Amino acid sequence: MATGEADLHDMIRDSVQDLAADFPREYWRECVEEYRFPQEYWDALADAGWLGVAIPEEYGGEGLGMLEMTIVIEELSRAGTMGGIVFVLTPVFGGIGIQRHGTEEQKQEYLPRIANGDVTFCMGLTEAAAGTNTLNIDTMAEEVGDGEWAVSGQKMFISGVENADTMLLVSRTAEFDKSNPTGGVTLFLVEDPAERDAIDLTHVEVELPWFEKQYQVDIDGLRVTEDDVLGTVDGGLYLLWDTLNTERIAGAASALGGGLRAVDLAVDYANDRNVFGAPIGSHQAIQHPIAESYAKLTAAREVTYKAAKLWDEDEDCGTEANSASLLTSEFGLEAADRAIQTHGGNGFTPEYEVFDIWRNLRLTKTAPVSNEMILNYLGEHELGMPRSY
Ligand SMILES: Cc1cc2nc3c(=O)[nH]c(=O)nc-3n(C[C@H](O)[C@H](O)[C@H](O)COP(=O)(O)OP(=O)(O)OC[C@H]3O[C@@H](n4cnc5c(N)ncnc54)[C@H](O)[C@@H]3O)c2cc1C
Repeated sequence: MATGEADLHDMIRDSVQDLAADFPREYWRECVEEYRFPQEYWDALADAGWLGVAIPEEYGGEGLGMLEMTIVIEELSRAGTMGGIVFVLTPVFGGIGIQRHGTEEQKQEYLPRIANGDVTFCMGLTEAAAGTNTLNIDTMAEEVGDGEWAVSGQKMFISGVENADTMLLVSRTAEFDKSNPTGGVTLFLVEDPAERDAIDLTHVEVELPWFEKQYQVDIDGLRVTEDDVLGTVDGGLYLLWDTLNTERIAGAASALGGGLRAVDLAVDYANDRNVFGAPIGSHQAIQHPIAESYAKLTAAREVTYKAAKLWDEDEDCGTEANSASLLTSEFGLEAADRAIQTHGGNGFTPEYEVFDIWRNLRLTKTAPVSNEMILNYLGEHELGMPRSY
């Protein structure tokens, strides 16, 4: 890494740590208890330029790249904020998606507002019946006139719809066609989804301490127009898959930071807690698992950064982005489990953070992409084994 780049990254880390220090655990607990969007935190991220870190300067961003966004997310998560993963919805799916596939008009309209914190996104992809098999979604947009569609269907587990200014809605615009299996899907930008008469929200409870709710989203005759299409009509899956690598990198950065946070907390506790006349960290049964987790996460960080660099260089990063997602998820979760073990009974109390970290990291094995689908990708695309499904 060039000295200039290393200095820049050090500066980013310092600045992000300063910002995160203003949002202690009590702040996040309040947001979670009240299901309150962390608006003050969001505004602080915008003011510091971090929401627009990868948006070009001509659209009001910092003009940096995925590597810098990765560092920002990692440091936010390592500092204990719950808001690293929120980058996936707005700066990644909204920001990168529109940057790469939006019309000039959409770029002008959305990118400056993403950078200044005025707009948040949610992602409407998952359906109960289709599950992981995205080709099977059956939310359907029927053409109703010149460049207009009426969309109907049901989405499941959609996060944060109540706070989102825009939903990226993934819908069929043509029936599934075996001869062109990846065609017939379109992405629509739906403004104010929670306010639309054609959209009905039902809260779906999940066992995660989070500041936003998950919803079943019932859509009945929602009108959308050509101006709302992101990318091309029937070409939505291409856009989605193009953006998925950045989603994996951002998710990996969040899991990496969470895992390192667990290591940091375990080290502090192991040094402080004294039983049998010595700090518990002096026992190798406690010390070695923490040290091993640190080594694993440090290695996972390398592949995460490599994926981000490749993306910034416009190179294929599928293998690295998928590997980063898998390794940070597995190693992060393991680190959190070890941090709980280090904390003994205290590990299960709300006073200490480690159990919450474990629960949030547990999600990364399943969503936004499951580790099985990551392994399918690596087995098939990198190793050349047959597709199993
Ligand atoms: C808290 C939370 C927030 C979410 N937020 C959003 C959101 O904002 N927007 C959105 O669109 N979705 C969201 N989701 C949905 C999430 O992305 C999906 O739950 C996830 O992708 C898995 O899909 P599924 O639940 O249908 O599992 P299924 O597809 O039913 O899979 C079940 C299990 O089988 C495995 N499996 C399935 N097929 C294969 C195969 N071919 N090979 C190997 N294993 C296989 C899967 O990996 C998984 O472990 C969220 C989910 C949760 C829990």
